Amino acid sequence: ERSLADADPALSAALGKELVRQDDGIELIASENIVSRAVLEAQGSVLTNKYAEGYPGRRYYGGCAEVDVAEQLAIDRVRQLFGAAYANVQPHSGAQANQAVFLALLNAGDTILGMSLASGGHLTHGAAPNLSGKWFKAVQYGVRREDGLLDYEELERLARAEKPRLIIAGGSAYPRVIDFARIRRVADEVGAFFMVDMAHFAGLVAAGLYPSPLPHAHVVTSTTHKTLRGPRGGLILSNDAELGKKFNSAVFPGLQGGPLMHVIAAKAVAFGEALQPSFKDYQQAVLANARTLAETLVERGFDIVTGGTDSHLLLVDLRPKKVTGKLAEASLERAGITANKNAIPFDPEKPAITSGIRLGSPAATTRGFGVAEFREVGLMIDEVLSALAGSNDGSNEGIEAAVHERVRELCARFPIYNR
Ligand code: PLP
Repeated sequence: ERSLADADPALSAALGKELVRQDDGIELIASENIVSRAVLEAQGSVLTNKYAEGYPGRRYYGGCAEVDVAEQLAIDRVRQLFGAAYANVQPHSGAQANQAVFLALLNAGDTILGMSLASGGHLTHGAAPNLSGKWFKAVQYGVRREDGLLDYEELERLARAEKPRLIIAGGSAYPRVIDFARIRRVADEVGAFFMVDMAHFAGLVAAGLYPSPLPHAHVVTSTTHKTLRGPRGGLILSNDAELGKKFNSAVFPGLQGGPLMHVIAAKAVAFGEALQPSFKDYQQAVLANARTLAETLVERGFDIVTGGTDSHLLLVDLRPKKVTGKLAEASLERAGITANKNAIPFDPEKPAITSGIRLGSPAATTRGFGVAEFREVGLMIDEVLSALAGSNDGSNEGIEAAVHERVRELCARFPIYNR
């Protein structure tokens, strides 16, 4: 059998260069992480060959003994990790986990209430271009103008006025702890189901460092690849076994065909890793590092939405520095630092430009960066963006090149995959 390099040099070269990119640059995209070799190995395994429609012990195909072991390990471990009565590990992605919940609990045209994209919610929580916004009557709550915190009063007002069938909490750019108990109270009052999408902060929940939504929500969805540090994928949890049956039918045969058994195997590995004591140490470092980055940037004159963070991510308001999110993202990338432009609440700029960038600590923390390194990262971000602001034409090549050199030196001290 030929190796990938022999069989497909063009693709192999791209993979090689991507490894170099990941190893030589500082990854600050809040939704990304660096999985272990064990997770990579499971995902690159022979399980990709297997069809296994159905669930462990109840498959529509023969030959499922070993994939049953893999899926049952994933289910048992994730239930233990989050203290959940029910788990489904088959959703191919976070978006599909959310769609499965919609399919199980809603009819087309029902009202749903989620956080708006502009305030840090996710597309699948009712945004207009998404299925959730097209097939349902989506009502959206936001954050308060004065402090960027979730506007619980607006949420409650909308819930009472619109009587949604489903209320959704969680998001992609909200840095603070969410009061799940408060939202459950209004859900009960208006007769709504309550779903928490913990995709971003699931790893912190697993480590006991962010409040668990499980005691409060009817259903919890997540991705597996962000703070949780597993393969790309989704999952559904609940403490209600009857609802669980509905979610199982919604995932298969409602929404998906064959499960991605190689990905499910990799989920099992990642959940096993998350059950180890070292995972808590990792998540503590994720929090400390995010805080250090926020403090360093505040010290250098940036605004941070909500004034800081309770999690792995921060949303930087670039307006005091007079640069846009779009230019900041591009300039940082040229300096070897990867982040994404992100709208800040009530952003005066268009979504393709934005006034903010979102930064996250999970990936760089995995490779070993501590608070000293994150302070250095904050200082480098300031150098690049201050130079960008000072240049009339958006060119700060000299500074970008100098910072890139420091980025390479820093990364060389913390190699990934023993490169
Ligand atoms: N939910 C939230 C809160 C997210 O942040 C994301 C990813 O960005 C998703 C769902 C969607 O996950 P996926 O990209 O796996 O479909």
